[in-house]
Amino acid sequence: MTPETIKIDTLVVGAGQAGVAMSEHLTRLDIPHLVLEKNRIAEAWRSARWDSMVANGPAWHDRFPGMEFAGDPDGFVAKEQVADYFVAYAQQFNAPIRTGVEVKRLRRNQGRPGFTVETTQGTIEALHVVAATGPFQRPVIPAIAPREPELHQIHSAHYRNPQQLPEGAVLVVGAGSSGVQIADELRRAGREVYLSVGPHDRPPRSYRNRDFCWWLGVLGLWDLSSSEPGKEHVTIAVSGARGGRTVDFRRLANEGITLVGRTQSFEQGVATFSADLAENIARGDENYLGLLDVADAWVERNGASLPEEPEAREMLPDPECVTDPILSLDLARSGVTSIIWATGYATDHNWMEVDAFDEQGKPRHQRGVSSESGIYFLGLPWLSRRGSTFIWGVWHDAKHIADHIATRRNYEHYLPSGE
Ligand SMILES: Cc1cc2nc3c(=O)[nH]c(=O)nc-3n(C[C@H](O)[C@H](O)[C@H](O)COP(=O)(O)OP(=O)(O)OC[C@H]3O[C@@H](n4cnc5c(N)ncnc54)[C@H](O)[C@@H]3O)c2cc1C
Repeated sequence: MTPETIKIDTLVVGAGQAGVAMSEHLTRLDIPHLVLEKNRIAEAWRSARWDSMVANGPAWHDRFPGMEFAGDPDGFVAKEQVADYFVAYAQQFNAPIRTGVEVKRLRRNQGRPGFTVETTQGTIEALHVVAATGPFQRPVIPAIAPREPELHQIHSAHYRNPQQLPEGAVLVVGAGSSGVQIADELRRAGREVYLSVGPHDRPPRSYRNRDFCWWLGVLGLWDLSSSEPGKEHVTIAVSGARGGRTVDFRRLANEGITLVGRTQSFEQGVATFSADLAENIARGDENYLGLLDVADAWVERNGASLPEEPEAREMLPDPECVTDPILSLDLARSGVTSIIWATGYATDHNWMEVDAFDEQGKPRHQRGVSSESGIYFLGLPWLSRRGSTFIWGVWHDAKHIADHIATRRNYEHYLPSGE
Protein backbone atom coordinates (compact mmCIF):
# COMPACT_ATOMS: atom_id res chain seq x y z
CA MET A 1 0.00 0.00 0.00
CA THR A 2 1.05 3.57 -0.54
CA PRO A 3 1.85 5.77 2.47
CA GLU A 4 -1.07 8.14 1.77
CA THR A 5 -4.42 7.46 3.40
CA ILE A 6 -6.71 5.11 1.46
CA LYS A 7 -10.45 5.77 1.67
CA ILE A 8 -12.80 2.86 1.25
CA ASP A 9 -16.44 2.21 2.02
CA THR A 10 -16.00 -1.07 3.88
CA LEU A 11 -12.91 -2.60 5.37
CA VAL A 12 -12.86 -6.28 6.26
CA VAL A 13 -10.14 -7.37 8.68
CA GLY A 14 -9.06 -11.00 8.25
CA ALA A 15 -9.20 -13.29 5.22
CA GLY A 16 -10.12 -16.60 6.70
CA GLN A 17 -13.36 -18.17 5.55
CA ALA A 18 -15.27 -15.31 7.23
CA GLY A 19 -13.39 -12.58 5.35
CA VAL A 20 -13.73 -14.42 2.03
CA ALA A 21 -17.49 -14.91 2.54
CA MET A 22 -17.85 -11.26 3.52
CA SER A 23 -16.04 -10.14 0.38
CA GLU A 24 -18.27 -12.30 -1.81
CA HIS A 25 -21.45 -10.73 -0.45
CA LEU A 26 -20.07 -7.19 -0.59
CA THR A 27 -18.98 -7.81 -4.20
CA ARG A 28 -22.47 -9.01 -5.10
CA LEU A 29 -23.96 -5.84 -3.65
CA ASP A 30 -21.39 -3.64 -5.43
CA ILE A 31 -20.07 -2.28 -2.14
CA PRO A 32 -16.50 -0.99 -2.56
CA HIS A 33 -14.35 -2.81 -0.04
CA LEU A 34 -10.94 -4.08 0.87
CA VAL A 35 -9.93 -7.14 2.88
CA LEU A 36 -6.71 -7.01 4.89
CA GLU A 37 -5.03 -10.20 6.07
CA LYS A 38 -1.90 -10.21 8.17
CA ASN A 39 -0.75 -13.60 6.90
CA ARG A 40 -2.15 -15.59 3.98
CA ILE A 41 -5.73 -16.37 2.96
CA ALA A 42 -7.15 -19.04 5.32
CA GLU A 43 -3.90 -19.06 7.28
CA ALA A 44 -5.45 -20.83 10.28
CA TRP A 45 -6.21 -23.87 8.14
CA ARG A 46 -2.55 -24.04 7.09
CA SER A 47 -0.52 -23.21 10.16
CA ALA A 48 -2.77 -23.50 13.22
CA ARG A 49 -3.81 -27.13 12.65
CA TRP A 50 -1.91 -30.41 12.97
CA ASP A 51 -0.49 -32.04 9.82
CA SER A 52 -3.00 -34.87 9.49
CA MET A 53 -6.10 -32.81 10.29
CA VAL A 54 -9.14 -33.18 8.07
CA ALA A 55 -12.38 -31.24 8.19
CA ASN A 56 -14.84 -32.31 10.85
CA GLY A 57 -17.74 -32.33 8.43
CA PRO A 58 -18.03 -34.09 5.06
CA ALA A 59 -17.08 -32.25 1.87
CA TRP A 60 -20.70 -31.86 0.73
CA HIS A 61 -21.44 -30.00 3.97
CA ASP A 62 -18.36 -28.04 5.06
CA ARG A 63 -18.24 -25.64 2.12
CA PHE A 64 -19.70 -22.44 0.71
CA PRO A 65 -22.75 -22.71 -1.55
CA GLY A 66 -20.85 -21.36 -4.58
CA MET A 67 -18.25 -24.10 -5.01
CA GLU A 68 -17.88 -27.82 -4.35
CA PHE A 69 -14.73 -29.65 -3.32
CA ALA A 70 -13.19 -31.94 -5.90
CA GLY A 71 -13.39 -35.61 -4.89
CA ASP A 72 -15.78 -37.65 -2.77
CA PRO A 73 -18.55 -35.41 -1.36
CA ASP A 74 -18.89 -37.78 1.60
CA GLY A 75 -15.14 -37.66 2.33
CA PHE A 76 -13.38 -35.44 4.85
CA VAL A 77 -11.12 -32.90 3.20
CA ALA A 78 -7.51 -32.46 4.38
CA LYS A 79 -6.77 -29.09 5.98
CA GLU A 80 -4.41 -27.85 3.20
CA GLN A 81 -7.10 -28.57 0.63
CA VAL A 82 -9.57 -26.61 2.73
CA ALA A 83 -7.17 -23.64 2.68
CA ASP A 84 -6.66 -24.05 -1.11
CA TYR A 85 -10.43 -24.08 -1.50
CA PHE A 86 -10.74 -20.63 0.07
CA VAL A 87 -7.91 -19.27 -2.08
CA ALA A 88 -9.64 -20.60 -5.22
CA TYR A 89 -12.99 -19.35 -3.99
CA ALA A 90 -11.63 -15.82 -3.51
CA GLN A 91 -10.10 -15.92 -7.00
CA GLN A 92 -13.49 -16.80 -8.51
CA PHE A 93 -14.80 -13.29 -7.90
CA ASN A 94 -11.45 -11.53 -7.75
CA ALA A 95 -11.77 -10.69 -4.07
CA PRO A 96 -9.86 -7.49 -3.19
CA ILE A 97 -7.68 -9.14 -0.54
CA ARG A 98 -4.30 -7.75 0.49
CA THR A 99 -2.22 -10.25 2.39
CA GLY A 100 0.69 -9.51 4.71
CA VAL A 101 -0.99 -6.39 6.11
CA GLU A 102 -1.86 -6.30 9.79
CA VAL A 103 -4.43 -3.97 11.25
CA LYS A 104 -2.95 -2.48 14.41
CA ARG A 105 -5.52 0.07 15.56
CA LEU A 106 -9.07 1.17 14.84
CA ARG A 107 -10.67 4.39 16.12
CA ARG A 108 -13.91 6.24 15.41
CA ASN A 109 -13.39 9.56 13.64
CA GLN A 110 -14.37 12.65 15.59
CA GLY A 111 -16.70 15.17 13.94
CA ARG A 112 -17.00 13.14 10.73
CA PRO A 113 -18.29 9.71 9.84
CA GLY A 114 -16.32 6.51 9.77
CA PHE A 115 -13.18 5.09 11.26
CA THR A 116 -9.45 5.50 10.96
CA VAL A 117 -7.51 2.28 10.75
CA GLU A 118 -3.78 2.05 11.23
CA THR A 119 -2.07 -0.85 9.53
CA THR A 120 1.50 -2.06 9.11
CA GLN A 121 1.37 -0.48 5.66
CA GLY A 122 -0.35 2.86 6.20
CA THR A 123 -3.65 4.39 7.21
CA ILE A 124 -7.11 3.59 5.90
CA GLU A 125 -10.36 5.44 6.39
CA ALA A 126 -13.50 3.34 6.19
CA LEU A 127 -17.17 3.98 6.84
CA HIS A 128 -17.80 0.40 7.89
CA VAL A 129 -15.42 -2.12 9.41
CA VAL A 130 -16.04 -5.85 9.69
CA ALA A 131 -13.88 -7.69 12.21
CA ALA A 132 -13.47 -11.16 10.72
CA THR A 133 -10.41 -12.00 12.77
CA GLY A 134 -11.55 -15.42 13.89
CA PRO A 135 -13.32 -17.19 16.71
CA PHE A 136 -10.26 -19.17 17.73
CA GLN A 137 -7.50 -16.63 17.73
CA ARG A 138 -5.51 -16.84 20.91
CA PRO A 139 -4.69 -20.35 22.21
CA VAL A 140 -5.65 -20.58 25.88
CA ILE A 141 -3.57 -22.55 28.38
CA PRO A 142 -5.10 -22.47 31.87
CA ALA A 143 -3.19 -20.98 34.78
CA ILE A 144 -2.84 -24.42 36.44
CA ALA A 145 -0.15 -25.37 33.87
CA PRO A 146 2.95 -26.60 35.74
CA ARG A 147 6.11 -24.49 35.69
CA GLU A 148 8.66 -27.34 35.44
CA PRO A 149 10.94 -26.39 32.52
CA GLU A 150 11.76 -30.02 31.75
CA LEU A 151 8.14 -30.67 30.70
CA HIS A 152 7.46 -29.98 27.04
CA GLN A 153 4.15 -28.10 26.94
CA ILE A 154 2.30 -26.89 23.87
CA HIS A 155 -1.21 -25.85 22.94
CA SER A 156 -3.06 -28.00 20.41
CA ALA A 157 -2.74 -25.07 17.96
CA HIS A 158 1.01 -25.76 17.92
CA TYR A 159 0.83 -29.55 17.73
CA ARG A 160 1.88 -30.87 14.31
CA ASN A 161 2.72 -34.58 14.59
CA PRO A 162 4.01 -37.17 17.09
CA GLN A 163 7.65 -36.80 15.93
CA GLN A 164 7.65 -33.21 17.14
CA LEU A 165 7.39 -34.32 20.78
CA PRO A 166 10.28 -35.57 22.91
CA GLU A 167 10.27 -39.30 23.63
CA GLY A 168 8.00 -40.39 26.44
CA ALA A 169 4.38 -40.46 27.52
CA VAL A 170 2.02 -37.57 26.78
CA LEU A 171 -0.78 -36.02 28.82
CA VAL A 172 -3.43 -34.50 26.57
CA VAL A 173 -5.65 -32.11 28.51
CA GLY A 174 -9.07 -31.60 26.94
CA ALA A 175 -11.14 -34.12 25.02
CA GLY A 176 -12.97 -32.02 22.49
CA SER A 177 -12.46 -32.60 18.78
CA SER A 178 -8.79 -31.56 18.88
CA GLY A 179 -7.81 -33.39 22.07
CA VAL A 180 -9.34 -36.75 21.11
CA GLN A 181 -7.87 -36.71 17.61
CA ILE A 182 -4.40 -35.76 18.84
CA ALA A 183 -4.51 -38.38 21.62
CA ASP A 184 -5.60 -41.02 19.10
CA GLU A 185 -2.82 -40.10 16.67
CA LEU A 186 -0.21 -40.22 19.43
CA ARG A 187 -1.42 -43.62 20.62
CA ARG A 188 -1.32 -44.97 17.06
CA ALA A 189 2.26 -43.71 16.83
CA GLY A 190 3.09 -45.94 19.81
CA ARG A 191 3.05 -43.29 22.53
CA GLU A 192 1.72 -43.89 25.99
CA VAL A 193 -1.13 -41.40 26.32
CA TYR A 194 -3.20 -40.00 29.18
CA LEU A 195 -6.31 -38.16 28.07
CA SER A 196 -8.03 -35.79 30.49
CA VAL A 197 -11.75 -35.87 29.75
CA GLY A 198 -14.08 -33.10 30.92
CA PRO A 199 -17.77 -32.54 30.16
CA HIS A 200 -18.41 -33.14 26.48
CA ASP A 201 -20.99 -33.89 23.83
CA ARG A 202 -20.15 -36.69 21.42
CA PRO A 203 -22.62 -36.99 18.58
CA PRO A 204 -22.65 -40.13 16.45
CA ARG A 205 -20.46 -39.62 13.38
CA SER A 206 -23.31 -41.10 11.41
CA TYR A 207 -26.61 -42.79 12.16
CA ARG A 208 -29.02 -44.63 9.89
CA ASN A 209 -26.77 -43.92 6.93
CA ARG A 210 -26.65 -40.15 7.42
CA ASP A 211 -23.78 -38.05 8.76
CA PHE A 212 -24.46 -36.13 11.96
CA CYS A 213 -24.05 -32.82 10.04
CA TRP A 214 -27.09 -33.90 8.04
CA TRP A 215 -28.98 -34.81 11.19
CA LEU A 216 -28.25 -31.45 12.79
CA GLY A 217 -29.57 -29.85 9.61
CA VAL A 218 -32.86 -31.75 9.33
CA LEU A 219 -33.45 -31.52 13.06
CA GLY A 220 -32.90 -27.74 13.00
CA LEU A 221 -30.10 -28.01 15.56
CA TRP A 222 -27.55 -25.96 13.61
CA ASP A 223 -29.99 -23.08 14.00
CA LEU A 224 -30.08 -23.04 17.80
CA SER A 225 -29.48 -19.44 18.78
CA SER A 226 -27.51 -20.07 21.96
CA SER A 227 -25.94 -22.94 23.86
CA GLU A 228 -28.19 -24.62 26.40
CA PRO A 229 -27.89 -22.96 29.83
CA GLY A 230 -25.18 -24.74 31.83
CA LYS A 231 -23.61 -26.20 28.68
CA GLU A 232 -21.41 -23.20 27.85
CA HIS A 233 -18.27 -25.10 28.83
CA VAL A 234 -19.22 -28.41 27.27
CA THR A 235 -16.93 -29.23 24.39
CA ILE A 236 -17.91 -31.30 21.37
CA ALA A 237 -15.92 -34.38 20.41
CA VAL A 238 -16.29 -35.22 16.75
CA SER A 239 -13.78 -36.40 14.17
CA GLY A 240 -13.46 -36.93 10.44
CA ALA A 241 -10.09 -38.68 10.86
CA ARG A 242 -9.54 -42.01 9.10
CA GLY A 243 -12.79 -41.74 7.18
CA GLY A 244 -14.81 -40.44 10.12
CA ARG A 245 -15.80 -42.40 13.20
CA THR A 246 -17.88 -41.71 16.28
CA VAL A 247 -15.70 -40.61 19.17
CA ASP A 248 -16.00 -43.45 21.68
CA PHE A 249 -13.95 -42.99 24.84
CA ARG A 250 -14.28 -46.64 25.84
CA ARG A 251 -12.84 -47.73 22.51
CA LEU A 252 -9.99 -45.24 22.90
CA ALA A 253 -9.29 -46.78 26.31
CA ASN A 254 -9.40 -50.29 24.84
CA GLU A 255 -6.84 -49.14 22.28
CA GLY A 256 -4.49 -48.16 25.06
CA ILE A 257 -5.26 -44.57 26.01
CA THR A 258 -5.56 -44.02 29.76
CA LEU A 259 -8.54 -41.79 30.44
CA VAL A 260 -8.52 -39.47 33.45
CA GLY A 261 -11.02 -36.90 34.72
CA ARG A 262 -10.75 -33.13 34.46
CA THR A 263 -7.26 -31.86 35.24
CA GLN A 264 -7.37 -29.97 38.51
CA SER A 265 -3.86 -28.99 39.50
CA PHE A 266 -0.14 -29.70 39.32
CA GLU A 267 2.01 -29.66 42.39
CA GLN A 268 5.61 -30.75 42.65
CA GLY A 269 5.41 -32.85 39.53
CA VAL A 270 2.10 -34.49 40.45
CA ALA A 271 -1.04 -33.92 38.41
CA THR A 272 -4.40 -34.31 40.12
CA PHE A 273 -7.65 -35.12 38.34
CA SER A 274 -11.28 -34.74 39.40
CA ALA A 275 -13.24 -37.89 40.19
CA ASP A 276 -15.67 -36.95 37.42
CA LEU A 277 -14.54 -39.21 34.58
CA ALA A 278 -17.40 -41.74 34.80
CA GLU A 279 -19.92 -38.92 35.08
CA ASN A 280 -18.46 -37.05 32.11
CA ILE A 281 -18.58 -40.21 30.03
CA ALA A 282 -22.13 -40.98 31.15
CA ARG A 283 -23.23 -37.44 30.19
CA GLY A 284 -21.51 -37.82 26.82
CA ASP A 285 -23.45 -41.09 26.34
CA GLU A 286 -26.68 -39.28 27.22
CA ASN A 287 -25.98 -36.69 24.59
CA TYR A 288 -25.12 -39.40 22.05
CA LEU A 289 -28.22 -41.50 22.79
CA GLY A 290 -30.39 -38.37 22.91
CA LEU A 291 -29.45 -37.59 19.33
CA LEU A 292 -30.30 -41.15 18.26
CA ASP A 293 -33.69 -40.76 19.95
CA VAL A 294 -34.59 -37.51 18.21
CA ALA A 295 -33.30 -38.92 14.92
CA ASP A 296 -35.54 -41.99 15.31
CA ALA A 297 -38.50 -39.77 16.15
CA TRP A 298 -37.80 -37.70 13.03
CA VAL A 299 -37.68 -40.85 10.87
CA GLU A 300 -41.00 -42.00 12.24
CA ARG A 301 -42.72 -38.64 11.95
CA ASN A 302 -41.59 -38.23 8.34
CA GLY A 303 -42.01 -41.86 7.29
CA ALA A 304 -38.41 -41.72 6.03
CA SER A 305 -36.94 -44.97 4.75
CA LEU A 306 -33.57 -44.87 6.49
CA PRO A 307 -32.13 -48.25 7.53
CA GLU A 308 -32.49 -49.07 11.21
CA GLU A 309 -29.26 -49.23 13.22
CA PRO A 310 -29.93 -50.80 16.64
CA GLU A 311 -26.22 -51.64 17.09
CA ALA A 312 -25.54 -47.88 17.41
CA ARG A 313 -27.01 -48.18 20.93
CA GLU A 314 -24.61 -50.88 22.06
CA MET A 315 -21.93 -49.63 24.45
CA LEU A 316 -18.62 -51.28 25.27
CA PRO A 317 -18.13 -52.14 28.95
CA ASP A 318 -16.46 -49.45 31.05
CA PRO A 319 -12.68 -49.93 31.02
CA GLU A 320 -10.71 -50.07 34.25
CA CYS A 321 -9.50 -46.48 33.92
CA VAL A 322 -13.16 -45.45 34.17
CA THR A 323 -14.27 -47.80 36.96
CA ASP A 324 -11.12 -47.23 39.02
CA PRO A 325 -9.92 -43.81 37.88
CA ILE A 326 -6.48 -42.38 38.45
CA LEU A 327 -6.84 -39.30 40.63
CA SER A 328 -3.21 -38.29 40.76
CA LEU A 329 -0.26 -38.95 38.50
CA ASP A 330 3.41 -38.47 39.25
CA LEU A 331 4.45 -37.20 35.84
CA ALA A 332 8.14 -38.14 36.02
CA ARG A 333 7.45 -41.62 37.42
CA SER A 334 4.83 -42.24 34.74
CA GLY A 335 7.26 -41.15 32.04
CA VAL A 336 5.21 -38.12 31.00
CA THR A 337 7.52 -35.74 29.16
CA SER A 338 4.92 -33.66 27.28
CA ILE A 339 1.60 -31.99 27.96
CA ILE A 340 -0.66 -30.93 25.12
CA TRP A 341 -3.24 -28.37 26.13
CA ALA A 342 -6.30 -28.89 23.93
CA THR A 343 -8.10 -26.32 26.03
CA GLY A 344 -9.56 -23.97 23.48
CA TYR A 345 -9.10 -20.42 22.32
CA ALA A 346 -10.08 -16.84 23.03
CA THR A 347 -10.71 -13.94 20.69
CA ASP A 348 -8.47 -10.89 20.54
CA HIS A 349 -10.01 -7.53 19.67
CA ASN A 350 -7.42 -5.35 21.41
CA TRP A 351 -6.85 -3.41 18.20
CA MET A 352 -10.44 -2.13 18.23
CA GLU A 353 -10.74 1.08 20.25
CA VAL A 354 -14.48 1.47 19.77
CA ASP A 355 -17.59 1.26 21.90
CA ALA A 356 -18.55 -2.26 20.88
CA PHE A 357 -17.66 -4.29 23.97
CA ASP A 358 -19.31 -5.04 27.28
CA GLU A 359 -17.69 -4.78 30.73
CA GLN A 360 -16.07 -8.20 30.25
CA GLY A 361 -14.62 -7.12 26.93
CA LYS A 362 -17.03 -9.30 24.94
CA PRO A 363 -18.31 -7.97 21.62
CA ARG A 364 -21.74 -6.39 22.04
CA HIS A 365 -23.75 -7.14 18.93
CA GLN A 366 -26.92 -8.48 17.38
CA ARG A 367 -26.21 -11.04 14.66
CA GLY A 368 -22.86 -9.34 14.15
CA VAL A 369 -24.19 -5.78 13.99
CA SER A 370 -22.37 -4.12 16.86
CA SER A 371 -23.47 -1.46 19.31
CA GLU A 372 -20.99 0.95 17.66
CA SER A 373 -22.69 2.02 14.48
CA GLY A 374 -20.62 0.94 11.45
CA ILE A 375 -18.73 -1.83 13.25
CA TYR A 376 -19.51 -5.49 12.55
CA PHE A 377 -18.31 -8.83 13.91
CA LEU A 378 -18.27 -12.01 11.87
CA GLY A 379 -17.28 -15.60 12.68
CA LEU A 380 -17.80 -15.40 16.44
CA PRO A 381 -19.21 -18.45 18.24
CA TRP A 382 -23.01 -18.24 18.36
CA LEU A 383 -22.97 -14.98 16.34
CA SER A 384 -26.44 -15.85 15.10
CA ARG A 385 -26.67 -19.59 15.70
CA ARG A 386 -24.77 -22.77 16.44
CA GLY A 387 -23.47 -22.91 12.86
CA SER A 388 -21.85 -19.45 12.99
CA THR A 389 -18.22 -20.55 13.32
CA PHE A 390 -18.59 -23.26 10.69
CA ILE A 391 -17.77 -22.82 7.04
CA TRP A 392 -21.33 -22.87 5.73
CA GLY A 393 -22.68 -20.92 8.73
CA VAL A 394 -20.33 -17.97 8.41
CA TRP A 395 -21.37 -17.55 4.78
CA HIS A 396 -24.98 -16.92 5.81
CA ASP A 397 -23.97 -14.56 8.62
CA ALA A 398 -21.81 -12.62 6.16
CA LYS A 399 -24.83 -12.23 3.88
CA HIS A 400 -26.83 -10.70 6.72
CA ILE A 401 -24.04 -8.23 7.54
CA ALA A 402 -23.56 -7.25 3.88
CA ASP A 403 -27.30 -6.61 3.61
CA HIS A 404 -27.11 -4.45 6.73
CA ILE A 405 -24.24 -2.42 5.28
CA ALA A 406 -26.16 -1.99 2.00
CA THR A 407 -29.21 -0.72 3.88
CA ARG A 408 -27.09 1.72 5.88
CA ARG A 409 -25.48 2.98 2.70
CA ASN A 410 -28.94 3.74 1.33
CA TYR A 411 -29.54 6.05 4.29
CA GLU A 412 -26.05 7.52 4.11
CA HIS A 413 -26.40 8.30 0.41
CA TYR A 414 -29.98 9.56 0.59
CA LEU A 415 -30.71 13.04 -0.71
CA PRO A 416 -34.23 14.51 -0.78
CA SER A 417 -35.36 15.30 -4.31
CA GLY A 418 -34.18 18.74 -5.31
CA GLU A 419 -31.29 18.84 -2.85
C1 LIG B 1 -8.86 -27.37 15.20
C2 LIG B 1 -10.06 -26.76 14.51
C3 LIG B 1 -10.72 -27.49 13.55
C4 LIG B 1 -11.84 -26.96 12.88
N1 LIG B 1 -12.47 -27.73 11.94
C5 LIG B 1 -13.56 -27.23 11.32
C6 LIG B 1 -14.24 -27.99 10.33
O1 LIG B 1 -13.84 -29.09 10.02
N2 LIG B 1 -15.33 -27.46 9.72
C7 LIG B 1 -15.78 -26.20 10.02
O2 LIG B 1 -16.77 -25.75 9.40
N3 LIG B 1 -15.17 -25.48 10.96
C8 LIG B 1 -14.07 -25.95 11.61
N4 LIG B 1 -13.43 -25.19 12.56
C9 LIG B 1 -14.02 -23.89 12.92
C10 LIG B 1 -13.71 -22.77 11.91
O3 LIG B 1 -14.08 -23.20 10.64
C11 LIG B 1 -12.26 -22.36 11.89
O4 LIG B 1 -11.88 -21.95 13.16
C12 LIG B 1 -12.00 -21.21 10.89
O5 LIG B 1 -10.61 -21.02 10.79
C13 LIG B 1 -12.66 -19.90 11.29
O6 LIG B 1 -12.59 -19.01 10.21
P1 LIG B 1 -12.57 -17.43 10.40
O7 LIG B 1 -12.38 -16.84 9.06
O8 LIG B 1 -13.73 -16.99 11.20
O9 LIG B 1 -11.28 -17.20 11.30
P2 LIG B 1 -9.76 -17.50 10.95
O10 LIG B 1 -9.62 -18.66 10.05
O11 LIG B 1 -9.03 -17.52 12.24
O12 LIG B 1 -9.36 -16.22 10.10
C14 LIG B 1 -9.13 -14.97 10.68
C15 LIG B 1 -8.00 -14.31 9.91
O13 LIG B 1 -7.80 -13.00 10.41
C16 LIG B 1 -6.43 -12.68 10.36
N5 LIG B 1 -6.20 -11.61 11.31
C17 LIG B 1 -6.36 -11.64 12.65
N6 LIG B 1 -6.09 -10.44 13.21
C18 LIG B 1 -5.74 -9.62 12.19
C19 LIG B 1 -5.35 -8.25 12.11
N7 LIG B 1 -5.28 -7.48 13.21
N8 LIG B 1 -5.05 -7.73 10.88
C20 LIG B 1 -5.15 -8.48 9.76
N9 LIG B 1 -5.51 -9.79 9.78
C21 LIG B 1 -5.82 -10.35 10.97
C22 LIG B 1 -5.75 -14.00 10.73
O14 LIG B 1 -4.42 -14.06 10.24
C23 LIG B 1 -6.67 -15.03 10.06
O15 LIG B 1 -6.21 -15.45 8.80
C24 LIG B 1 -12.31 -25.67 13.22
C25 LIG B 1 -11.64 -24.94 14.20
C26 LIG B 1 -10.53 -25.47 14.84
C27 LIG B 1 -9.82 -24.65 15.90
